Amino acid sequence: MNTYRQSELVNYFDCPRKFKLSLTADRKKSKLMAEGHLFEGLVFGFKYNHFHEFDIPLDSDIDTLPAKKFGIQEPSLLAYKIAAKHAKTFFLEGDSYVKLRYEGPNWCLQGEADFIGDVMYRGNQVRCIADLKFTGDIVKNWHDKEANFKSFIQSIVYPFIHYKNTGEILPFVYVIVDNDKSLLPNETPYVKQMRHVPTLKEFELLEAFIDTVDSDFEFKHNPNSCVTGPYWNYECPYMRSCEIGRQFKEIAVEIPELELAL
Ligand code: SF4
Repeated sequence: MNTYRQSELVNYFDCPRKFKLSLTADRKKSKLMAEGHLFEGLVFGFKYNHFHEFDIPLDSDIDTLPAKKFGIQEPSLLAYKIAAKHAKTFFLEGDSYVKLRYEGPNWCLQGEADFIGDVMYRGNQVRCIADLKFTGDIVKNWHDKEANFKSFIQSIVYPFIHYKNTGEILPFVYVIVDNDKSLLPNETPYVKQMRHVPTLKEFELLEAFIDTVDSDFEFKHNPNSCVTGPYWNYECPYMRSCEIGRQFKEIAVEIPELELAL
């Protein structure tokens, strides 16, 4: 029986082959990921995965060595600690790093919620599943995010697993903290929150989607997703393992006769 995670499933919307590669191939480790992991550790405490993923010895001095290994030095580290102190105030009573798993008749779904419990949301204490995001640009990355399954799949997957195991439908809250490397001790970071209250209809759609993925044996390429974004600034992280991606990147171009434009 196959086991799925939302971080891998989301790739299927772009390119089924990308999804398939995400199950096995090494992806490029980005600075952004490292910063996210470091920030998560500063808010909720460091865990084995953080160290394991970046080859940091488990007995490291948490205050200094991980940050250096993550490639993050002062003064950014000081700014992150200030932001983390503020971010902690959103997470009230509850548990962090909560393992979630649902075993269905044909497939399993699993993940790890950053936090389950009471969170401050628009001035109120709300019981929910919460996820901490650390972003370089709140406006660019989150303001106009299209409200569709691909963009917010996490806000359906985790509540779905929780619902299947407990019968309780919990809202999902994103706590999005601005990654401002020059934050000063007397300042607070920008924090944006987004909430999604999932429905039973969405849970049905999710199950149908995973059934589709589970019965796919071809995992076709979608070259339209190899490079995307404004100025082609996003490249598929599995390109080095994908022949179609290589062909896309290396395609030969004949330059036509040139006009003189002044
Ligand atoms: S490089 Fe392109 S075709 Fe290959 S897996 Fe990535 S998105 Fe799909």
